[in-house]
Amino acid sequence: MSGIAHTTRFAPSPTGALHLGNARTALFSWLVARATGGRFVLRIEDTDAERSHEAALERQLAELRWLGLDWDEGPNVGGDRGPYRQSERAPIHAEALDTLATRALTYPCFCSPEELEFSRKAQLAAGRPPRYARTCAKLDADEAQRRVDAGRRPAIRFRVPDGRTIEFIDHVHGPQRFLSDDIGDFVIRRADGSVSFFLGNAVDDSAMGITLVVRGDDHLANTPRQLLLLEALGMRRPEYAHLPLVLAPDGRPLSKREGAASLSDLHAQGYLPGAIRNYLARLGHACGTDDWLDVEALSRHFDIARTSHSAARFDEAQLRHWQREAVTHASNDELERWLGARLDALGEEPKQQAFVAAVRGNVLLPKDADELVRVLTADVLVVEPDAAAQIAEAGADFFERAQALFVQFEGEFKNWTRAVAESTGRKGARLFMPLRSALTGTTHGPELAPLVALMGAERARHRLADAQVRASVR
Ligand code: GLU
Repeated sequence: MSGIAHTTRFAPSPTGALHLGNARTALFSWLVARATGGRFVLRIEDTDAERSHEAALERQLAELRWLGLDWDEGPNVGGDRGPYRQSERAPIHAEALDTLATRALTYPCFCSPEELEFSRKAQLAAGRPPRYARTCAKLDADEAQRRVDAGRRPAIRFRVPDGRTIEFIDHVHGPQRFLSDDIGDFVIRRADGSVSFFLGNAVDDSAMGITLVVRGDDHLANTPRQLLLLEALGMRRPEYAHLPLVLAPDGRPLSKREGAASLSDLHAQGYLPGAIRNYLARLGHACGTDDWLDVEALSRHFDIARTSHSAARFDEAQLRHWQREAVTHASNDELERWLGARLDALGEEPKQQAFVAAVRGNVLLPKDADELVRVLTADVLVVEPDAAAQIAEAGADFFERAQALFVQFEGEFKNWTRAVAESTGRKGARLFMPLRSALTGTTHGPELAPLVALMGAERARHRLADAQVRASVR
């Protein structure tokens, strides 16, 4: 793909949340543009008025921005090849319909859905692939006019040429070959006057100067139809890259069950955009390195030709790996912003900063930080069973001394723990495990010294006293 600066696009329908598969399509499309020094266009396919919603559109745009996919042309940005909402491109579509009509490549079709279904079933029963039977192709103009005059509203079909081979080279799937004889005359304008996906989508891609269409391979069978239309219109054809689907681990469609059906699900759980970018860029695509890649490096390691031909499966362990990397690569300030109001219970800003610095290695998702904030601020500590066992094993006497020395050394961690070691003869895990258990209620977690500083001397002393009681009751 070297040498060509591609203009790519993402063309979402604003009917709901952005599915993870669509987010990957958007990312790949954006990466092609960035990797080749080209342009990335956003076009909103909102011609289905009933299913398109302004709120869904706003949410999709916000999610794309959050993921870091900025567009060079599109809604809120403008550009020379707008409008960027398909519903505003009706005059362009009407002109294309006119051109095809003038070239006698269209005809009105009055077949009802029932008639079409009947014909489809008959063909299937006869063992033939179902195609439109060209019933209305034979209507003469007078008869068609009589029906229109009688109030019937026809769809418009495109006359597919006979005996043609349609070929293109897909950037993912390689050479593709279709026979026009397998394709029935298809609808390009519905009876309600709206243009079909085939026409609107193909005309817009070409008119907007898109050079490479990146989209899901559920559209692969649409491409030969769209190429025939563009050829009939004398419009330039783009190249295509059809991406395999993203499935759930069990091979079924990705659903709410995985908590990852949409980009907003992952956002809401606290996944960071860099984690999702690194994860999606490796979902059915070989980056050639296992290293963390920032936006700029990602585009250097991206080549659409290295996309796998088969469906990709969502793998939460992989996503968590990249989330770990994203947290590791984020600055303390970024993490503080990420955790936001969850840190309020800790108190003043310096405390929040100290918390982030202390726990960043132990936080994968914001809920992990919630748990640590709770440990540090709880009046009544929840003690887990293995921590309770540690406390019992160390004994009441250990905590009595630990407490006295804590007061003596005013909670200064190093001197305090050294003194406890000397006084009790314990060291290493035998010293720190019971202390950690008493102070945090668990046997694992971030480095202990900053946690003690964050919970405050008063709370720490109380917890040591509680542990003494707990150990003596045993
Ligand atoms: N609006 C279409 C969709 O969401 C776009 C398909 C395409 O990218 O060509 O599936």
